[in-house]
Parts: sequence; structure tokens; C-alpha cells
Amino acid sequence: MIEAEGLTKFYGSMAAIRDVTFRIDQGEVVGFLGPNGAGKSTTIRILTCYMPPTAGSAKIDGLDCFEKSLEVRNRIGYLPESVPLYSEMSVDRFLAFAAEAKGVEARKRRKEVARVVDICGLEKVSHRIIGHLSKGFRQRVGLAQALVNNPPILILDEPTIGLDPGQIIEIRHLILNLREKHTILLSSHILPEVAQICQRVMIINKGQIVATDSPANLTSRLQKSALVVIEVRGSSDDLASCLKQLDGVQNVTSDNDNHNRMMVETDRSRDLRPEIARLVVAKGVDLLELKPVDLSLEDIFMQLVTEETTQEESET
Ligand code: ADP
Repeated sequence: MIEAEGLTKFYGSMAAIRDVTFRIDQGEVVGFLGPNGAGKSTTIRILTCYMPPTAGSAKIDGLDCFEKSLEVRNRIGYLPESVPLYSEMSVDRFLAFAAEAKGVEARKRRKEVARVVDICGLEKVSHRIIGHLSKGFRQRVGLAQALVNNPPILILDEPTIGLDPGQIIEIRHLILNLREKHTILLSSHILPEVAQICQRVMIINKGQIVATDSPANLTSRLQKSALVVIEVRGSSDDLASCLKQLDGVQNVTSDNDNHNRMMVETDRSRDLRPEIARLVVAKGVDLLELKPVDLSLEDIFMQLVTEETTQEESET
């Protein structure tokens, strides 16, 4: 449904994205995750026909975004990072205007506006001037204009940026409710956001896709070692070095603030908790806590981004 093949975009001599290739199938909800400046908006601007790539191709339903931009735009609801709202218009007038621009027949416009007003919870403010609304409501109006004419694909660029925590929750909730009816590409630099909303995550860094998988698979695939945290009570002077000698233990580090808390890094393919517990007890030390720790998506993201940087540094 959305296909990017070798997408590359140069701004002057700088490549903002390089050889970006991915495919998003109908009904998928995909997160596009990367730090600021990674190339998310550039990719999205190409997909939404705002500019052509320097090389490569982008297709929506098999239609080239550059050559068939009119047909492509009809299939996409786009919420740009900064929504171009007409702040002196009322919400319903603006949405009627968006419906007209998107080719909704005059006799169907009122019904269509009512539909998106309802989905985005805008009933109470539909007659108000957009410029007088809170940022959260303005973002809902932005989402409503993306939904006009019921496009099968939604492309949302950083939809919660600049909102306060309450407004963020509301917008995320709205997006969650849209998942069943639309294919969604959601760009964000906020990890929990994509993990919460998306089935699949594509991570982009420095203009290149560095990983793509489900949030859960990404965690387990990239987690190189498992981590077990233990907390003990009693003298544990040589406990760390004894733990290090256990077969399958890769490293042991003490918590800086609490030396009785240790992080035991183990081989991922084995569960070493019983051996660790037996060793602690055999040393005559009380075992207060022993728990496995999952690396968060954030840790993995940092790992990927750091690996990229390290690779690049070693190449130069
Ligand atoms: P993101 O959306 O992930 O923050 P962008 O796609 O906006 O990233 O930017 C990718 C890179 O391209 C950045 O280094 C940015 O400074 C640069 N860039 C973006 N737009 C332009 C432009 N119009 N002219 C020149 N450089 C640009």
C-alpha cells in the first residue's frame, strides 16, 4: 500500500535521507521513529507529494507520488508537524473548506464535517474561531481535516509535539481509535508513543533506516544480553567477583548509590537466576531481591543509534 524504494533526498550537497526502503501493508499501524533531524519529515513530505525525491521512488497503491500526485493525495490524510490552520475561521467553516478542497460534493459536505467533528470530539467548539482554541483542540482540528473524505491512509507527523500531557493523552486516544479503519504512518521522536500505538516500528537515524520490527521483537532481537538485578544484605565483598565466574555471566556491576544492588548481565539464551540465587545464599548473604529487567525500547534505540555512530566513526 505504501512503498518506498531507495528514497534519497539531497538538500544542496547534504543527503537528508539515503536509500530509504520500506513497505507498509493495508491496515498496518507503523511508527516512524528517530531523533530530530533523522529524516522523518523529509520522507513524509515525499510520500505526501510535497516534493520529489532526488533518487528512488515512493508509491501509494502502486501510484507514483510524484507522477500521480492528485490520485495519491486523494488517498492520504496528512497531519503535518505544524498544521496550516486558518486561525480566523470557525472550526466548521474550516472543515467545510477542507472538504471542498478535497473534492467532497457540496451536498455531502455538511454530513462529512459532522462525521469528522464527531470522531475528533469537536462538537462543543465547532462554531468557535480556530485562533481562540487551545493547542490541544487546534491539533484535533488538524486531525479532523486529515480525516475529511475518509482517506484509507493517514500520515501523522509528530502529532503530539508541543502539547501538554493531558492533551497528549487525548490525541493518542483519538489515534488509537482510528487504527481499525486506516493504515497509519505515525512519526515521532517519543518512544513510548510509538510503542503504545503501533504494531511495527521503523527506526531512522541520520537519514537511514536502522531497524524495523514490532516493539516487542525489537526488544528481544536486539537485546544482546539479559539483565538480572539483585539486592543483597550482608557482607558481599567478593560476591561480585564470584558471580562473574559463573558460567554464562558476562558482567556484574554494582549500583553507585547502593553497593548491595548489582546488575548481573547474562547470556540471553539461558536463565541463570537459580544459579545466581544459590551462589548468593552459599556465600552466606541474604538475597532480598532478584528480578530480570527488560531493556526498554529507549535503551535499544540508544544502542542502535550509538552502534551507527560507532560504525561511522570507525569508517572515517
Ligand atoms: P526529522 O523530521 O526527522 O526531524 P528532517 O527530515 O526534518 O528530520 O531533516 C533531515 C535533515 O535535513 C536535517 O539535517 C535537516 O536539517 C535537513 N533539512 C530538512 N529540511 C531542509 C531544507 N528545506 N533545506 C535544507 N536542509 C533541510
